[in-house]
Amino acid sequence: MRQKITLREVGLRDGLQIHPTFMPTAAKLAWIAAEAGSGISEIEVTSYVPPKLIPQFADAQPVTEGALRIAGLMVTALIPNLRGAQRGIELGVHKLNYVMSVSDTHNMKNVRRSSAESVTDFRDIVTLVRSQPGHAQPLVCGGLSTALGCSYEGRIAVSQVVKYAVQLIEAGAQELIVADTVGYADPAQVRAVFKAVLAEVGSVPVAAHFHDTRGLGLANVCAALDCGITRFDASLAGLGGCPFAPGASGNVVMEDLCFMLDSMGYDTGVDIDQLVAVRALVSAALPDMSLQGAIARAGLPQGYRVAAQRLPV
Ligand code: ZN
Repeated sequence: MRQKITLREVGLRDGLQIHPTFMPTAAKLAWIAAEAGSGISEIEVTSYVPPKLIPQFADAQPVTEGALRIAGLMVTALIPNLRGAQRGIELGVHKLNYVMSVSDTHNMKNVRRSSAESVTDFRDIVTLVRSQPGHAQPLVCGGLSTALGCSYEGRIAVSQVVKYAVQLIEAGAQELIVADTVGYADPAQVRAVFKAVLAEVGSVPVAAHFHDTRGLGLANVCAALDCGITRFDASLAGLGGCPFAPGASGNVVMEDLCFMLDSMGYDTGVDIDQLVAVRALVSAALPDMSLQGAIARAGLPQGYRVAAQRLPV
Protein backbone atom coordinates (compact mmCIF):
# COMPACT_ATOMS: atom_id res chain seq x y z
CA MET A 1 0.00 0.00 0.00
CA ARG A 2 1.62 3.22 -1.13
CA GLN A 3 1.55 6.28 1.11
CA LYS A 4 -0.88 8.81 -0.28
CA ILE A 5 0.36 12.40 -0.60
CA THR A 6 -1.94 15.38 -1.05
CA LEU A 7 -0.49 18.03 -3.35
CA ARG A 8 -2.12 21.44 -3.04
CA GLU A 9 -1.78 24.02 -5.80
CA VAL A 10 -1.19 27.53 -4.43
CA GLY A 11 0.05 29.29 -7.58
CA LEU A 12 -3.23 31.07 -8.22
CA ARG A 13 -2.83 32.82 -4.87
CA ASP A 14 0.83 32.75 -3.84
CA GLY A 15 2.12 32.91 -7.42
CA LEU A 16 -0.21 35.58 -8.73
CA GLN A 17 -0.47 37.87 -5.72
CA ILE A 18 2.61 39.90 -6.55
CA HIS A 19 2.29 39.61 -10.33
CA PRO A 20 1.56 43.06 -11.79
CA THR A 21 -0.51 41.82 -14.75
CA PHE A 22 -4.10 40.75 -14.09
CA MET A 23 -4.71 37.19 -15.23
CA PRO A 24 -8.13 37.05 -16.94
CA THR A 25 -10.75 35.21 -14.89
CA ALA A 26 -11.46 32.73 -17.72
CA ALA A 27 -7.76 31.81 -17.83
CA LYS A 28 -7.66 31.28 -14.06
CA LEU A 29 -10.69 28.99 -14.31
CA ALA A 30 -9.18 27.09 -17.24
CA TRP A 31 -5.99 26.63 -15.20
CA ILE A 32 -7.94 25.35 -12.18
CA ALA A 33 -10.00 22.94 -14.33
CA ALA A 34 -6.96 21.61 -16.19
CA GLU A 35 -4.94 21.06 -13.04
CA ALA A 36 -7.87 19.42 -11.26
CA GLY A 37 -8.17 17.22 -14.37
CA SER A 38 -4.54 16.15 -13.98
CA GLY A 39 -5.36 14.81 -10.51
CA ILE A 40 -4.56 17.72 -8.16
CA SER A 41 -7.31 17.44 -5.56
CA GLU A 42 -6.94 20.70 -3.64
CA ILE A 43 -6.40 24.22 -5.04
CA GLU A 44 -6.09 27.54 -3.22
CA VAL A 45 -7.93 29.54 -5.86
CA THR A 46 -7.78 33.11 -4.54
CA SER A 47 -7.49 35.39 -1.54
CA TYR A 48 -10.34 37.30 0.08
CA VAL A 49 -8.56 40.62 0.44
CA PRO A 50 -9.90 44.03 -0.62
CA PRO A 51 -9.32 44.43 -4.41
CA LYS A 52 -7.84 47.85 -3.67
CA LEU A 53 -5.04 46.08 -1.81
CA ILE A 54 -4.40 43.32 -4.39
CA PRO A 55 -6.21 43.95 -7.72
CA GLN A 56 -5.22 40.44 -8.90
CA PHE A 57 -7.95 39.06 -6.61
CA ALA A 58 -10.73 41.41 -7.71
CA ASP A 59 -12.39 38.37 -9.33
CA ALA A 60 -12.36 36.27 -6.14
CA GLN A 61 -16.11 35.68 -6.40
CA PRO A 62 -16.37 34.32 -9.98
CA VAL A 63 -13.15 32.33 -9.50
CA THR A 64 -14.50 30.70 -6.32
CA GLU A 65 -17.90 30.03 -7.88
CA GLY A 66 -16.35 28.54 -11.02
CA ALA A 67 -13.95 26.34 -9.04
CA LEU A 68 -16.81 25.07 -6.86
CA ARG A 69 -18.47 23.66 -9.98
CA ILE A 70 -15.57 21.23 -10.53
CA ALA A 71 -16.63 17.88 -9.10
CA GLY A 72 -14.34 16.42 -6.46
CA LEU A 73 -12.08 19.47 -6.11
CA MET A 74 -11.36 20.84 -2.63
CA VAL A 75 -11.60 24.62 -3.15
CA THR A 76 -9.67 26.70 -0.64
CA ALA A 77 -8.90 30.40 -0.27
CA LEU A 78 -6.59 32.50 1.84
CA ILE A 79 -8.16 34.83 4.39
CA PRO A 80 -6.31 37.59 6.26
CA ASN A 81 -9.12 38.48 8.68
CA LEU A 82 -12.75 38.10 9.81
CA ARG A 83 -14.13 39.96 6.79
CA GLY A 84 -12.34 37.49 4.51
CA ALA A 85 -13.89 34.62 6.46
CA GLN A 86 -17.34 36.18 6.07
CA ARG A 87 -16.86 36.36 2.29
CA GLY A 88 -15.66 32.79 2.13
CA ILE A 89 -18.71 31.57 4.05
CA GLU A 90 -21.04 33.52 1.76
CA LEU A 91 -19.38 32.04 -1.34
CA GLY A 92 -19.44 28.51 0.06
CA VAL A 93 -15.70 27.85 -0.24
CA HIS A 94 -14.68 24.47 1.19
CA LYS A 95 -11.74 25.59 3.34
CA LEU A 96 -10.47 28.88 4.75
CA ASN A 97 -6.70 29.21 5.04
CA TYR A 98 -6.10 31.85 7.70
CA VAL A 99 -2.56 33.15 7.76
CA MET A 100 -0.56 34.79 10.52
CA SER A 101 3.18 35.24 10.95
CA VAL A 102 5.15 33.62 13.74
CA SER A 103 7.50 36.60 13.45
CA ASP A 104 5.95 39.53 15.30
CA THR A 105 7.74 42.06 13.09
CA HIS A 106 6.50 40.44 9.87
CA ASN A 107 2.97 40.17 11.24
CA MET A 108 3.05 43.84 12.25
CA LYS A 109 4.18 44.92 8.76
CA ASN A 110 1.77 42.57 7.04
CA VAL A 111 -1.45 43.02 9.02
CA ARG A 112 -0.54 45.77 11.52
CA ARG A 113 -1.03 43.69 14.64
CA SER A 114 1.02 41.48 16.91
CA SER A 115 1.06 37.71 16.44
CA ALA A 116 -0.84 37.37 19.72
CA GLU A 117 -3.58 39.69 18.39
CA SER A 118 -3.77 37.56 15.25
CA VAL A 119 -4.50 34.49 17.39
CA THR A 120 -7.39 36.43 18.96
CA ASP A 121 -8.67 37.28 15.45
CA PHE A 122 -8.50 33.58 14.59
CA ARG A 123 -10.68 32.74 17.60
CA ASP A 124 -13.30 35.19 16.29
CA ILE A 125 -13.13 33.55 12.85
CA VAL A 126 -13.72 30.09 14.35
CA THR A 127 -16.65 31.47 16.37
CA LEU A 128 -18.15 32.97 13.20
CA VAL A 129 -17.76 29.71 11.27
CA ARG A 130 -19.28 27.65 14.09
CA SER A 131 -22.28 29.98 14.26
CA GLN A 132 -23.25 28.91 10.73
CA PRO A 133 -25.53 25.94 10.00
CA GLY A 134 -23.48 22.75 9.69
CA HIS A 135 -23.63 22.49 5.90
CA ALA A 136 -22.41 26.10 5.55
CA GLN A 137 -19.31 25.67 7.71
CA PRO A 138 -16.04 25.62 5.78
CA LEU A 139 -13.04 23.83 7.26
CA VAL A 140 -10.78 26.27 9.09
CA CYS A 141 -7.06 25.95 8.66
CA GLY A 142 -4.44 27.94 10.59
CA GLY A 143 -1.36 28.98 8.63
CA LEU A 144 1.91 29.89 10.33
CA SER A 145 3.98 31.96 7.92
CA THR A 146 7.65 32.86 8.48
CA ALA A 147 7.82 29.73 10.67
CA LEU A 148 11.26 28.84 9.29
CA GLY A 149 12.71 32.29 8.93
CA CYS A 150 11.81 35.93 8.50
CA SER A 151 13.40 38.64 6.38
CA TYR A 152 13.23 41.00 9.40
CA GLU A 153 13.98 38.70 12.33
CA GLY A 154 16.08 35.97 10.67
CA ARG A 155 15.82 32.54 12.26
CA ILE A 156 12.70 31.89 14.33
CA ALA A 157 12.93 29.89 17.56
CA VAL A 158 11.28 26.45 17.32
CA SER A 159 9.51 27.20 20.61
CA GLN A 160 7.78 30.19 19.00
CA VAL A 161 6.43 28.04 16.16
CA VAL A 162 5.19 25.40 18.60
CA LYS A 163 3.59 28.08 20.81
CA TYR A 164 1.47 29.50 17.98
CA ALA A 165 0.71 26.04 16.55
CA VAL A 166 -0.75 25.02 19.91
CA GLN A 167 -2.67 28.30 20.26
CA LEU A 168 -4.25 27.96 16.79
CA ILE A 169 -5.31 24.39 17.55
CA GLU A 170 -6.73 25.39 20.93
CA ALA A 171 -8.63 28.12 19.06
CA GLY A 172 -10.19 25.49 16.78
CA ALA A 173 -7.90 25.01 13.75
CA GLN A 174 -8.79 21.77 11.94
CA GLU A 175 -5.49 21.78 10.05
CA LEU A 176 -2.18 23.64 10.25
CA ILE A 177 0.13 24.93 7.54
CA VAL A 178 3.73 25.49 8.54
CA ALA A 179 5.29 27.79 5.97
CA ASP A 180 8.79 28.81 4.96
CA THR A 181 7.50 32.05 3.48
CA VAL A 182 10.84 33.50 2.41
CA GLY A 183 12.75 30.33 1.56
CA TYR A 184 15.22 30.36 4.46
CA ALA A 185 14.80 26.76 5.64
CA ASP A 186 17.27 23.88 5.44
CA PRO A 187 16.40 20.19 5.92
CA ALA A 188 17.88 19.94 9.44
CA GLN A 189 15.79 22.90 10.55
CA VAL A 190 12.70 21.45 8.85
CA ARG A 191 13.15 18.22 10.83
CA ALA A 192 13.52 20.13 14.09
CA VAL A 193 10.48 22.35 13.53
CA PHE A 194 8.09 19.72 12.16
CA LYS A 195 9.04 17.12 14.79
CA ALA A 196 8.43 19.65 17.55
CA VAL A 197 5.10 20.77 16.07
CA LEU A 198 3.88 17.23 15.39
CA ALA A 199 4.68 16.24 18.97
CA GLU A 200 2.17 18.83 20.19
CA VAL A 201 -0.70 18.81 17.68
CA GLY A 202 -2.24 15.39 18.22
CA SER A 203 -4.46 14.28 15.35
CA VAL A 204 -4.67 17.66 13.61
CA PRO A 205 -3.16 17.35 10.10
CA VAL A 206 -0.11 19.48 9.33
CA ALA A 207 0.82 20.68 5.84
CA ALA A 208 4.17 22.02 4.67
CA HIS A 209 4.59 25.09 2.47
CA PHE A 210 8.09 25.65 1.10
CA HIS A 211 9.55 28.27 -1.18
CA ASP A 212 12.49 27.33 -3.37
CA THR A 213 14.18 30.70 -3.11
CA ARG A 214 17.56 29.24 -2.18
CA GLY A 215 17.26 25.93 -4.00
CA LEU A 216 16.40 23.76 -0.98
CA GLY A 217 12.67 23.36 -1.61
CA LEU A 218 12.66 19.66 -2.57
CA ALA A 219 15.30 18.79 0.04
CA ASN A 220 13.01 20.39 2.62
CA VAL A 221 10.07 18.35 1.31
CA CYS A 222 12.12 15.17 1.85
CA ALA A 223 12.93 16.23 5.40
CA ALA A 224 9.23 16.88 6.09
CA LEU A 225 8.29 13.50 4.53
CA ASP A 226 10.71 11.84 6.96
CA CYS A 227 8.76 13.48 9.80
CA GLY A 228 5.50 12.02 8.47
CA ILE A 229 4.09 15.05 6.64
CA THR A 230 1.82 14.03 3.75
CA ARG A 231 0.36 17.37 2.59
CA PHE A 232 2.43 19.77 0.54
CA ASP A 233 1.78 23.14 -1.06
CA ALA A 234 3.47 23.88 -4.39
CA SER A 235 2.85 26.03 -7.43
CA LEU A 236 2.73 25.16 -11.09
CA ALA A 237 5.97 26.31 -12.76
CA GLY A 238 7.13 27.58 -9.35
CA LEU A 239 5.17 30.74 -9.91
CA GLY A 240 5.80 33.47 -7.42
CA GLY A 241 8.76 35.38 -6.17
CA CYS A 242 9.46 39.01 -5.61
CA PRO A 243 9.25 41.59 -8.40
CA PHE A 244 12.06 43.51 -6.67
CA ALA A 245 14.42 40.51 -6.57
CA PRO A 246 15.05 39.30 -10.13
CA GLY A 247 15.64 35.55 -10.27
CA ALA A 248 14.05 34.92 -6.88
CA SER A 249 11.78 31.94 -7.23
CA GLY A 250 8.41 31.20 -5.73
CA ASN A 251 7.01 28.01 -4.28
CA VAL A 252 8.39 24.56 -4.87
CA VAL A 253 7.68 23.63 -8.52
CA MET A 254 4.60 21.39 -8.56
CA GLU A 255 5.71 19.32 -11.57
CA ASP A 256 9.16 18.61 -10.07
CA LEU A 257 7.63 17.77 -6.69
CA CYS A 258 5.18 15.40 -8.35
CA PHE A 259 8.03 13.73 -10.31
CA MET A 260 10.10 13.28 -7.16
CA LEU A 261 7.24 11.77 -5.15
CA ASP A 262 6.11 9.47 -7.98
CA SER A 263 9.70 8.29 -8.42
CA MET A 264 10.04 7.60 -4.70
CA GLY A 265 6.94 5.40 -4.73
CA TYR A 266 4.43 7.76 -3.12
CA ASP A 267 0.88 7.94 -4.46
CA THR A 268 0.18 11.49 -5.69
CA GLY A 269 -2.81 10.58 -7.86
CA VAL A 270 -1.49 13.03 -10.47
CA ASP A 271 -0.85 12.42 -14.19
CA ILE A 272 2.46 14.22 -14.66
CA ASP A 273 2.14 14.66 -18.45
CA GLN A 274 -1.24 16.31 -18.02
CA LEU A 275 0.17 18.45 -15.22
CA VAL A 276 3.11 19.67 -17.33
CA ALA A 277 0.70 20.50 -20.17
CA VAL A 278 -1.10 23.02 -17.93
CA ARG A 279 1.96 25.29 -18.17
CA ALA A 280 1.14 26.17 -21.79
CA LEU A 281 -2.22 27.48 -20.69
CA VAL A 282 -0.64 29.72 -18.02
CA SER A 283 2.10 31.09 -20.28
CA ALA A 284 -0.44 31.85 -23.03
CA ALA A 285 -2.49 33.92 -20.58
CA LEU A 286 0.53 35.57 -18.91
CA PRO A 287 3.38 35.76 -21.45
CA ASP A 288 5.42 38.00 -19.12
CA MET A 289 5.46 35.40 -16.32
CA SER A 290 8.70 33.44 -15.96
CA LEU A 291 8.07 29.71 -15.63
CA GLN A 292 10.47 27.56 -13.61
CA GLY A 293 10.82 23.79 -13.54
CA ALA A 294 13.39 21.10 -14.26
CA ILE A 295 11.00 18.43 -15.56
CA ALA A 296 9.43 20.82 -18.06
CA ARG A 297 12.92 21.83 -19.22
CA ALA A 298 14.61 18.41 -19.31
CA GLY A 299 11.65 16.07 -19.85
CA LEU A 300 10.98 12.80 -18.08
CA PRO A 301 13.77 10.18 -18.12
CA GLN A 302 13.69 7.77 -21.10
CA GLY A 303 11.23 4.94 -20.42
CA TYR A 304 10.10 6.61 -17.20
CA ARG A 305 7.44 4.88 -15.15
CA VAL A 306 6.20 5.98 -11.76
CA ALA A 307 7.51 3.65 -9.07
CA ALA A 308 4.18 1.81 -8.78
CA GLN A 309 4.29 0.79 -12.46
CA ARG A 310 7.92 -0.36 -12.50
CA LEU A 311 8.79 -4.02 -12.73
CA PRO A 312 10.80 -5.34 -9.79
CA VAL A 313 14.55 -5.22 -10.48
ZN1 ZN B 1 4.11 31.21 0.22
